[in-house]
Amino acid sequence: MRQATQDGALVSLRGVRKAFGNIEVLRGVDLNVAKGEVVAIIGPSGSGKSTILRTVNGLTPVDHGVITVGDITVTDPKVDKVALRHRVGMVFQQYNLFPHKTVLENVAMAPIQVLGEPRRHVEERAKHLLAGMRLPEKALSYPGELSGGQQQRVAIARALCMQPEVILFDEVTAALDPEMVKEVLSAVRKVAEDGMTCILVTHEMRFAREAANCVYFTDKGVIVEQGEPKAFFTNPQDPRTKEFLDKVL
Ligand code: ADP
Ligand code: MG
Repeated sequence: MRQATQDGALVSLRGVRKAFGNIEVLRGVDLNVAKGEVVAIIGPSGSGKSTILRTVNGLTPVDHGVITVGDITVTDPKVDKVALRHRVGMVFQQYNLFPHKTVLENVAMAPIQVLGEPRRHVEERAKHLLAGMRLPEKALSYPGELSGGQQQRVAIARALCMQPEVILFDEVTAALDPEMVKEVLSAVRKVAEDGMTCILVTHEMRFAREAANCVYFTDKGVIVEQGEPKAFFTNPQDPRTKEFLDKVL
């Protein structure tokens, strides 16, 4: 079992605050993720989970606080955007593949265009990743020819193809028909077991319990409680956590 550790965290958020207009949606978030660790963030809708992820890859600028990923200070206004895109991958609920590009082109595009890697080299890697996602025969298909579960696995391969240090997963099964949830969760699980550092926002409690090293519970823009999954789910400490788990379990 990989250990959660505060020291030498790969991803670190300290005192992160963010308001949209008058509404403060993050009210001082601290979070540390060690290399190879899998962290699940759970909590009610609107509690700030997606905003946390979006601050980590720089999509949402913060008002206060410091975020680092390895040696990159994400919250530095002069942050190297290319380096950030390279190091931090993200997979969304909506997979947002380019419909007029093949699966292979979707997966290989960013390393070629953003990082300037040689096409042949990247396409080899992309094919390998598609095989790992159990989609080897789909390289030349178009996204519209694939099921939702398959498209989401393409999106995961696309994130992996940048060879990031951490991947953020934002409710990646929420838009899928029930019969496709399992195959995508297995794919996420494989990514985690292969050693990728992962931060996942999920409503799939069983998955959080089985796949994560550490679970964070957010409510109204703060982290209320965090812990090792077994203790977290069987013996939550905070009344807000208990109330939430009573509703969803
Ligand atoms: P969660 O992912 O936990 O459901 P979010 O992080 O998406 O929560 O949203 C937290 C709060 O911030 C919500 O009240 C949401 O409406 C608000 N919010 C998120 N993004 C924006 C935005 N770009 N502009 C205004 N309000 C936003
Ligand atoms: Mg969300």
